[in-house]
Amino acid sequence: MAYDFGFTEEQVMVRDSLRAFMREEVLPREDVVYEKGDVPEEIEKAIRAKSLEMGFWNAHFPEELGGGGIDNVTASLMSYELGVTTWGLISCVQGGSLILCACEGEQREKYLFPVIRGEKLDCFALTEPGAGSDAMGITTRARKDGSDWVLNGRKHFISNADRADFAIVFAVTGENETARGKRSRITAFLIDKGTPGMEISLGSKPIGNPGHNVNNIFFDDCRVPESQILGEEGKGFEVAGEWLVPGRVMVAANCCGKARRAIDMSLEWAASRKQFGQEIGRFQGVSFKLADMETELAAAEWLTFNAAWRLDQNNLSDADAAMAKLYASEMLGRATDEAVQIHGGMGMMSDFPVGRLWRDARIERIWEGTSEVQRHIISRSILRPLEA
Ligand SMILES: Cc1cc2nc3c(=O)[nH]c(=O)nc-3n(C[C@H](O)[C@H](O)[C@H](O)COP(=O)(O)OP(=O)(O)OC[C@H]3O[C@@H](n4cnc5c(N)ncnc54)[C@H](O)[C@@H]3O)c2cc1C
Repeated sequence: MAYDFGFTEEQVMVRDSLRAFMREEVLPREDVVYEKGDVPEEIEKAIRAKSLEMGFWNAHFPEELGGGGIDNVTASLMSYELGVTTWGLISCVQGGSLILCACEGEQREKYLFPVIRGEKLDCFALTEPGAGSDAMGITTRARKDGSDWVLNGRKHFISNADRADFAIVFAVTGENETARGKRSRITAFLIDKGTPGMEISLGSKPIGNPGHNVNNIFFDDCRVPESQILGEEGKGFEVAGEWLVPGRVMVAANCCGKARRAIDMSLEWAASRKQFGQEIGRFQGVSFKLADMETELAAAEWLTFNAAWRLDQNNLSDADAAMAKLYASEMLGRATDEAVQIHGGMGMMSDFPVGRLWRDARIERIWEGTSEVQRHIISRSILRPLEA
């Protein structure tokens, strides 16, 4: 797909080198990961080491912090290329939450820089059994005790907590009186694995994305010093928000990359599989599906790259990011479903990438804000000005 506004030579170079990296270093290891349902440690280490060497691992962090300093359009092109496989392998190529840029003083030496250098892994712990879409409803509490904070509560669905060296944990530290009643004060804490009172256990196995495990984290009088607060006390969502909204654009790009792979496989299949004496792509029932898939992908790409470009212009609204995430993730659901249909019975085989993409795609409409949450953001942005 060519874009009139164009990508710079540098953006195309990064995209092409990551595309080659995925083809040569990552995809050949995919079968093992899907067969085992996990990423073996030697594969994780080998890919991460190569990714660090190539500058992909930390490309999204600012240059002055030791990252690659890429712009958001480049970051979205990278997410697109990464999208072709399971999140288990994607996490081996590009790591580290940008939220860690909020680290200050000694936190930088202890958390931010080791993450950028690929020496430490983080995880993001917000969701709880009683609070998913309603993130303000979390009940994990941190109580001040002298100069320490003591956490009690439970997180679930936390990706990669089993592999992480520390967690970015959100907890209620008090209440604010607002015009709309009482609101929890939410604070982000950096908590090292192994801190007494913090226990991590593997959660249920997700139906897609092998190697991307979800975990429970329990806090039972887990004591941390004040210096473990990320950002300011009571400002956890301000810190997270800066990163969560752009994160939705990157999820959208990832969905486009996954859809591209599903469509390419479907095109090849439609052009070679014969029934009734001819290639199935010659039947309108199949070719029109392909036409719709390609058109919807193009629309999702425009929304996504436009949102990334707006991010670079400091002009991205929450609704722009929501539209890109909503449309791209739902487009991916339709594209992978049709890809399975075009492959017929082969589409249902677990050792064939099309069925894997279909399963892996389902989460994209749920995490980083469900489709319903995105529709809520978009609808409020157009109705609020009408005071409705
Ligand atoms: C594989 C996986 C990995 C994850 N990784 C992480 C992680 O690393 N860190 C983390 O903190 N969380 C993580 N999550 C949690 C994820 O962000 C939540 O699952 C998601 O936000 C939805 O919350 P929920 O599952 O509690 O669903 P709920 O919020 O209970 O939603 C259930 C349904 O109700 C709908 N709904 C809810 N409220 C409304 C409303 N106001 N209007 C209309 N519909 C509504 C939802 O859209 C959804 O369809 C992960 C989840 C999964 C499955």
